[in-house]
Amino acid sequence: MTRSVTVRVPAKVNVQLAVGGLRPDGFHDLASVFLAVGLYDRVTAATPPPGAAPAGPRLTVSGPDAAQVPVDRTNLAARAAELLAARYGVAPAVHLHIDKDIPVAGGMAGGSADAAAALVACDALWGTGASRDDLLGLCAELGSDVPFSLVGGAALGRGRGELLTPLAVGGPFFWVFAVADGGLSTPAVYRECDRLREAAGTGATAAELPAPEPSPALLEALRTGDVAGLAVALAAGGSSNDLQAAAVSLRPSLAGTLRAGTDAGALAAIVSGSGPTCAFLAKDAQAAAEVAAALRASGTCREARVAAGPVDGATALPG
Ligand code: ATP
Repeated sequence: MTRSVTVRVPAKVNVQLAVGGLRPDGFHDLASVFLAVGLYDRVTAATPPPGAAPAGPRLTVSGPDAAQVPVDRTNLAARAAELLAARYGVAPAVHLHIDKDIPVAGGMAGGSADAAAALVACDALWGTGASRDDLLGLCAELGSDVPFSLVGGAALGRGRGELLTPLAVGGPFFWVFAVADGGLSTPAVYRECDRLREAAGTGATAAELPAPEPSPALLEALRTGDVAGLAVALAAGGSSNDLQAAAVSLRPSLAGTLRAGTDAGALAAIVSGSGPTCAFLAKDAQAAAEVAAALRASGTCREARVAAGPVDGATALPG
């Protein structure tokens, strides 16, 4: 009998992404304020039929961007299943199906989301009984954004983003996400950030730059549900996202997308994480729908999606 478990997992937006200087190990210290928003992938883990090749996870993907998602062992969901199986000494026999709605390579942690969902789904399917802390540890091994995809809500991420402190949020906050054609490589955006810092003469290394810190005003606006205060904090110093200039440098058309959203009445506009998705804060659900319609009409993005946050992290669906 085929059994299956489906887990729904949200995208994230970095309401703030403060990026420290380049460390000797090639990484950057971050102060990342994560917010989980209601754009979801669904990952189903199913027992393969009897007689199916037992070698490892088999993967299929559906959704408009399915062609851009690898179906081999480089897929983060497959790596998550293999890691869980190895740690608990079970055979990684599973069919993983990803129903993909989170933009691919869009700065919304879609791959990380699928990894967290695959861990939760395979743990339930195989009965490995991993504790929440065990799962969080496996998430951190898989990537710096994966732990947040498991916990959801809102959190401050330190270190490389994986050391999480939950944040209370007085929201919901309403957002519009302008999805671009094609993705941006996260490592390439960090390299461009370093290059721009060198060129500006500020230095680019951890020894030269101050440690990244969360903005007290931004955290307070989140806590109290103050949308106008959050808008001010998102725009402080140009953008609350230190990767924004690098993403726009690599994809200059994003400047036009950001402008189209603010022209349409968004309270604030930022690049989401490493981009190229742009995130627009709206006053309420009605205003978000209007900004999304204007963005679609502007021709500056492939698609505009409305989503609110915070929402729960990876969650098994009933049935
Ligand atoms: P982040 O915001 O965490 O930097 P991202 O949202 O920009 O990530 P992803 O959607 O996670 O980017 O995809 C980055 C790359 O990872 C893709 O180009 C793809 O080749 C690869 N990848 C591996 N597994 C997945 C997956 N399950 N879903 C999407 N992409 C995946």
